[in-house]
Amino acid sequence: MAKKGKEIVSATLDVKKLIDFLNQALSDEWLAYYQYWIGAKVVEGPMRNDAIAELTQHAGDELRHAEMIATRILQLGGTPVLEPKKWYTLTNCGYAVPSDFSIKKILKQNIEGEQCAIDVYNKLVEFTHNKDFVTYQLVQTILADEVEHEEDLQNVLDDLIILEGSLKCKK
Ligand code: MG
Ligand code: FE
Ligand code: FE
Repeated sequence: MAKKGKEIVSATLDVKKLIDFLNQALSDEWLAYYQYWIGAKVVEGPMRNDAIAELTQHAGDELRHAEMIATRILQLGGTPVLEPKKWYTLTNCGYAVPSDFSIKKILKQNIEGEQCAIDVYNKLVEFTHNKDFVTYQLVQTILADEVEHEEDLQNVLDDLIILEGSLKCKK
């Protein structure tokens, strides 16, 4: 029997297009997860413990986002992306290799990633608004998390800059 949950969505929007968008976002989430996870391992410099706490927490959030999106893709009758190598072709936001371990560089790379994610989810919120209430609520929740992530990283970066300034004054 056809799923009612999918039927009500197909009446108002292009479900195939939505599934494609969700698979792109799913690829972003996995890449963001790893970028945070490995960033927390390699980061160096003052305030590294504050950075590690945020990076680790955000890695967990991105993995949770991946879980939420994959579940929704299945409900819509789609298949979540099955191979990691496809993440690179489907991604909106790419993967910033943390080859420079300095805390500033890692924070900046992840802030850029969050800004891209905010754009992606903002578009998905608009795409599903008044059409698919379930996905709408999901992408709205993720959007709010990404806004919080950007804020948290920016706060660590701002504090780091203040710290550097005060160290210079003492010399
Ligand atoms: Mg945080
Ligand atoms: Fe995310
Ligand atoms: Fe995020």
